[in-house]
Formats: sequence, structure tokens, C-alpha cells
Amino acid sequence: MPLFEPTPEQQPFLQIAEDLAETQLRPRADEVDETATFPKENFDAFAKAGLLGLRIPKALGGMGADVLSAVMVIERLSRACGSTGMCFKMHCESTEPMWRLATDEQVERFVKPIAAGERITTTAIAEAGTGSHTWSLQSSITPVEGGYDLSNVRKGWVTSSEHADLYFTPAMLDGAGPGQFTSFVLEKKAVEWSIDGPWNGLGMRANASSPMTFSGSAPEGNRLGGESAWQTEVLPVFMPFSMITFAAVYLGIAEGAYETCVDHVTGRAYGDTGSKLAEIDGIQRYVGEMRIALDRTRALLYTVAGLIENGDIVDPRPFIECVCAADETSLFVTRTAMNVGGGRSYGGANALGRYLRDAQAGSVMAPTDDMIKLRVGRMQLGQPQF
Ligand SMILES: Cc1cc2nc3c(=O)[nH]c(=O)nc-3n(C[C@H](O)[C@H](O)[C@H](O)COP(=O)(O)OP(=O)(O)OC[C@H]3O[C@@H](n4cnc5c(N)ncnc54)[C@H](O)[C@@H]3O)c2cc1C
Repeated sequence: MPLFEPTPEQQPFLQIAEDLAETQLRPRADEVDETATFPKENFDAFAKAGLLGLRIPKALGGMGADVLSAVMVIERLSRACGSTGMCFKMHCESTEPMWRLATDEQVERFVKPIAAGERITTTAIAEAGTGSHTWSLQSSITPVEGGYDLSNVRKGWVTSSEHADLYFTPAMLDGAGPGQFTSFVLEKKAVEWSIDGPWNGLGMRANASSPMTFSGSAPEGNRLGGESAWQTEVLPVFMPFSMITFAAVYLGIAEGAYETCVDHVTGRAYGDTGSKLAEIDGIQRYVGEMRIALDRTRALLYTVAGLIENGDIVDPRPFIECVCAADETSLFVTRTAMNVGGGRSYGGANALGRYLRDAQAGSVMAPTDDMIKLRVGRMQLGQPQF
């Protein structure tokens, strides 16, 4: 029995996600993983279904999904293909500050084309020099007549890289203090850009998360919010949604591994006794342990998604805890599922290997589990967080 029944409002979003996951994502998941190919056909299908405007209000041409519906959609897509789920999550999280902070002119140039399925977006924050310490960036931008000079914007991992059209990109304005960024929507067609290396990840192989350099200039009209609005305007709309959707991807991967594992143990019978793996006590216990981990993680995520929707969150602890909880669940479930799946699964008889590799991304993507635990501990002890 599912612990959470979607409401009549959530049901249509989930139905679209379910259809796309099973007809588009799952059939391609192994191939895009093996060949490290960006899942363009999946994004074409998202565009056709209106999903690229998932959170954009209906008045602006989008689907107007609430936070929990978006979480459920991302989770469902990631259950079929972790790479596509992560690319889609990056699209949604970078679109969030765009539609919420856009000027009227930016609505026409960016938001409506995204809602119409004409633009893919992504987030370009992390840099090689500062890595998981994303509160500290080194790329800088210089105000010039009519806009900003981008001569020094280098990003270390940009999911969807050259397949995106718009990049949500914070950087340090010359002379700004630590952690005081100015954010931009960089348009691929309007700036100079290069891919600085291939993406050959252990998991999330279809992500195209390459390093990129941006140069040239960005017009004044491509800035999101005020010059020093990072802490006051941008982070409050970007961060909670970014965190809860990271957690949705990790939970989706864990559910995918779980269902693959259950499929395996109910099918595998021993030649000598005829008994199935599913009939063995120890295996039943493992399956129970995985189910409990999934259910308690989902309970946390869905509760926090509701708090974000209502604007009830006053400090970051609930949503960063979701990332850590979902990541630990995906690491635990994929490892346990592989254990139960045996040599056949290890040998590639099913998708457990892909889920296991995809799950590893959660512990190295910012905010990493290490940093979340450190931060939560510091909050509890009244110590400075950074
Ligand atoms: C698949 C994938 C996709 C990505 N996509 C994007 C994207 O689209 N956009 C984007 O902006 N970024 C993206 N990133 C970048 C990501 O968010 C991190 O910034 C990056 O993975 C950090 O790597 P690093 O080698 O610099 O880690 P490091 O910063 O060198 O950290 C290495 C390890 O040390 C630990 N560590 C560091 N400091 C401490 C500390 N004080 N205490 C305890 N432990 C610590 C970290 O937790 C980590 O486990 C992506 C990364 C991956 C793997």
C-alpha cells in the first residue's frame, strides 16, 4: 500500500511523468549510460508534453505545478533514468529563479520560451578551484557600459553543458565581499562559450556535466535580481527548491534500484530446491529494510516540500537534511539491492549496476553529505556555519 496517494491535483502531473518514464526514459536508460550520450530525445519528449514549464505559472504558459508535484515528477523520472532525472532537475532548479525574479522583459525573453518547450536551462555554479565549497566562487565579472564583461567565468561541472540554451550563473562582481554574488541568465547564442573537457563520469554518465568557460559580455537585462541580491532575493527562491529536487533525484534512483531488486528476487529460482530468492528469510529482511528506508525518506521529503510550498521554512536545516537523507538512502538501497541481486546483477543482468553508480554522485555533488552534517552540527551548537 503506498503511503502517499497523489491528490487529484497531483495526479495529472504524475501521469505525464509515469508515461514519459516508461515509454521514453527507461527504454533508453542503459544505452545513454553506456555511451555517455545526453538524452536529447527525452528532452524533446518533455518539451512536447509541456514539462519544461513544469513550475512556471499557467499565466506565463507553464503547467503551474506546486513544489510537491514537481518533487514527485522528478522522483518518477529518476526512477527510470538517473541521468535524465538529474538533467531535468537542473533544468527545473535553474528555471525557478528565472520565473520568480524575472522582469517583464525577461519573462518574454526567457520564461515564456522555456514554458513553450523552446529552451533547456541549467545551473552553472560550481568551479574547479572551490569545488564543493560553492559558497565561495572565484569567477568574477566586471561592470562595463550597458552590461558586464564575462572575461573570467569558468565553471567546473555544468550538467547538460552544450545541450542547454540558458545558464543560471552566479559570479563575483569586482570588489564584492565573500559569498556576495550577482546572478545572470547567460544565453548560449549571445555569449562566447567553450566546453573545456569531456564528461566521463562513474555514474550519471549521460549528464554531459562538462567544465565550461564563458566569455564576451552579458547585457544589463540578463542580470537576475539586484547586483547584491544573492542572499536576499536569489538564494531564498533558488536554494530550497534546488535542495528538495536533489533529494527527489536520489530517492528516485533508490526506488528504481528497489523495484529492480524485487523483480530479481521474485524471478530467481534455485535449480536444486526450486525455491525462489524471495522465499528466503534473510532476503525478505533485506527487502523490508530497504522499504523502510525508502518510506521514511519519502515522508521527510514530502513534509519538507509542503513547508517550502507554504514558505514556512525559516532556516535551511530541513531542506539540506532532505538531501543528506535521500543520498544516504540511495547509497544504502543500491548497495543492498546489489548484494541481494548477486553475481547475476553484478554481471549486468539488470540495471542495478547503473543505479549503484548513479547513486554515488549524491555524495560528491554539492551540498555533499559531509558538508551538510558539518553545517547541521554547527547550527545545533551555535557555531558559524561557514
Ligand atoms: C554528476 C555531477 C554533476 C554535477 N553537475 C553540476 C551542475 O550542473 N552545476 C554545478 O554548479 N555543479 C555541478 N556539479 C559539481 C558539484 O556540485 C561539486 O561542486 C563537485 O562535485 C565538487 O567536486 P570536488 O572534486 O571539487 O570536491 P571537493 O570540494 O574537492 O571535495 C572532496 C570531498 O571532500 C569533502 N569535504 C570538502 N570540504 C570538507 C569539509 N570542510 N569537511 C568535511 N568534508 C569536506 C567533500 O564533501 C567531498 O566529499 C556536479 C558534480 C557531479 C559529480
